[in-house]
Amino acid sequence: MKSLLVRFFLFSLVIAACSIAVTAWLASQATTGTIRQEQGEALETDAQIFDDVVKYAATHEDWSQAKSEMDRIARQHGRRIALTDHNGKKILDTGDANSPQLPITPKAIVDPLNVNGKIDSRAVGPFKLTDEEFAKLHAYAGELTACNPNVKIVDAPNGRPRLSNLQPGELSVWEECQVGYRLYTLTATERAAYAQLQLLFDECLRKLPEQSQALDKWPGHLMTFDWEITTVRDSPPEVGACMESARRTQLEPYVAGQAQLYLTALTGEEPQSIDLSTTGVTRITLVALGILALAGFASWITATQLVRPIRALTAATKRTAEGDRTARVDGGAGEIGELAKSFNAMSEKLAETERQRQAMVSDVAHELRTPLGNITGWLEATQDGLAEPDPHLIDMLLEESLLLQRLVDDLHDLAQADAGTLRLHPEPIALDDVVDQVVNAQQNREILLRAETTPVHATADPVRLRQALGNLVANAVRYTHPGGEVVVKLFEQKNFAILEVQDTGTGIAPDDLPHVFDRFWRADKSRSRRTGGSGLGLAITRHLVEAHGGTVSVTSELNRGSTFRISLPLP
Ligand code: ADP
Repeated sequence: MKSLLVRFFLFSLVIAACSIAVTAWLASQATTGTIRQEQGEALETDAQIFDDVVKYAATHEDWSQAKSEMDRIARQHGRRIALTDHNGKKILDTGDANSPQLPITPKAIVDPLNVNGKIDSRAVGPFKLTDEEFAKLHAYAGELTACNPNVKIVDAPNGRPRLSNLQPGELSVWEECQVGYRLYTLTATERAAYAQLQLLFDECLRKLPEQSQALDKWPGHLMTFDWEITTVRDSPPEVGACMESARRTQLEPYVAGQAQLYLTALTGEEPQSIDLSTTGVTRITLVALGILALAGFASWITATQLVRPIRALTAATKRTAEGDRTARVDGGAGEIGELAKSFNAMSEKLAETERQRQAMVSDVAHELRTPLGNITGWLEATQDGLAEPDPHLIDMLLEESLLLQRLVDDLHDLAQADAGTLRLHPEPIALDDVVDQVVNAQQNREILLRAETTPVHATADPVRLRQALGNLVANAVRYTHPGGEVVVKLFEQKNFAILEVQDTGTGIAPDDLPHVFDRFWRADKSRSRRTGGSGLGLAITRHLVEAHGGTVSVTSELNRGSTFRISLPLP
């Protein structure tokens, strides 16, 4: 479980599983919602078509003229409408010859005299007012609304205007306006129709058992202007049933006969509902598992690719730890590539340091060998009686010993600088004093050494600064021929104190310039150490100046002279 590969793989697998599950859930929610909505809309459409067809049946004696109206309805709703009689014989079909077969079961039975057990209110039959009666009653209605604007009039299905918001007699305007009675008087048509209904009703009642037959118990039961309310108030159910059957008998000749209604899509195919049966669930699960396997495969590939450079890095680090400085990693692009680059840089730096260390040890050994060899040689010669231990010999031995001393001091300074333990004791000083001290200390009879200073004050360690400048002046004197000139300048430039040591000496070849500050580097390898110094002077100078926050640079021309320049930041 600690393997990055395994962890990454499992992690991506979990993420993939979660996202697949959430996506599937969201998709199914959205789809179910859409399907429900579509189904709802389809149901609404079909209900509307059914109502339109029933209306046609309620207001027409048969289906013979129905085709054009059905075509219109079918077009309006984008559905195919077909009607058959109860034997299945086609009455009409808005589909064409190419339309597929009708479904086995009809959508509904169209019967205006039995819509959910009730007579459709639009089936008015003999109650339908003549045009003349219609005009007359509407004239009354007009007068009534003119008399009182609060009155609202609506038409009953047979054309009779009625008060929609008031009951007859309830209102004072009823008295005032005087039109109510005229409005609520039956027309000849209605009277005839009610009389016929009454006859049919009576006929039915007569067949009922005794107590229900007392016809006078239901006086005026038909004289209601809400003529479609046909059950008589407080009557036993069989009386209500008699009224229903009387009404059906009366209306039957006026409405189109019972028919079976088929509604299908124009193409004949009903929209599929979502398949969430067992096979559906299995299919969804299989697809999800397939996607999961794919995601797993992809993340495994990614993970191995991700882990490969890390493993290479680990191996390279191990090799480096074991001492191999040649280990390099190719990490490609991206973060791990950056890591690999940093590792390679570190490895190179390590190799370089190693090289420098080895070179340093061999240089130190080399530098020590000559003076020690000299001392040993002279001492042996004295021991063998070949040389006299006179003051001259002692001078020579002392000189070699001082050389060794200086070398060891320089090495110590460098070691301190490398370790970062080179301590400075900065204090406010006059730099011109430092220059004067160095120039005086290095005075030489063969070379003209002089100072050109302006007073500059800085915060620096006077001992270390003297050492740094002293190294430069000593070099200048050392590499200048007798009769030459060395000038030490001090001036201020843009918040920097500039210390310049200019000589008219041998100069340094352009190729050598970049190396002058390296440890143990000398332009003239054969030059004796006695004149050449330790080879560490400039390296130490650079360290000291940098410890002061400054820089040291050199410009030189071969056989013309060199200029070394220290710049120190002023506070
Ligand atoms: P050294 O003790 O050999 O002088 P340094 O580090 O002081 O060591 O100088 C390194 C080398 O740089 C010298 O050996 C010499 O070749 C060259 N060099 C330094 N200063 C000068 C100078 N003023 N003129 C010419 N060459 C110089």
